[in-house]
Amino acid sequence: MRLLVVEDEPDLLSSLASVLREEGYAVDEAEDGEMGLQKALWTDYDAIVLDVMLPGINGFQVIERLRVRKKTPVLLLTARDQSSDRVRGLDSGADDYLPKPYDLPELLARIRALIRRSAGHPSATAQFGRVTIDFNAHRATLDGREIALTAREFALVGMLAQHRDRVFTRAQLYEHLFDESDDSSSNLLDVHVSNIRKKLGKNIIVTRRGLGYGIGCG
Ligand code: CA
Repeated sequence: MRLLVVEDEPDLLSSLASVLREEGYAVDEAEDGEMGLQKALWTDYDAIVLDVMLPGINGFQVIERLRVRKKTPVLLLTARDQSSDRVRGLDSGADDYLPKPYDLPELLARIRALIRRSAGHPSATAQFGRVTIDFNAHRATLDGREIALTAREFALVGMLAQHRDRVFTRAQLYEHLFDESDDSSSNLLDVHVSNIRKKLGKNIIVTRRGLGYGIGCG
């Protein structure tokens, strides 16, 4: 899952981005509304975390302009106690909002819920044969036994599981799993696929020749 964080406060931006990366997300960063909008139009993010108060074009304007072209889920960070901000945010097309200063576990839960809803899969777990994927806990079990996956491995299998009827091309998987700061050694897709198959069964990821990858049955 790849996220965009748009926040003009450098410390907040880098700390939030690093927390999200620890959670296994690929994260792109933007320091103002213009850059945020450009990136949001250019890349298909799984969700966008967008601060309202930005220099140049503000968060409301970013959403309004984005919504003309795309329906990427947006979580808006508003000022506390500004109900007018929340109303305007939802009216301009935000999917959810959270007042600042926010509680980090709540922010993470809202991002997960936003991604699940937009994938049309509101449930927190999914079953594929002997394998169960828990999207909230970032856990996978095989016959009820927890299998240790790296954050990247979970991100990949979780992405496929969340869109169970879809086949992703390699390019789409790269776009959703790796961010602009990833070095080339981390984005070895074939290695991740092979490791996941060793851990969860060779049929958990199916290769559709000439098309790409999809979730299978563990
Ligand atoms: Ca701000």
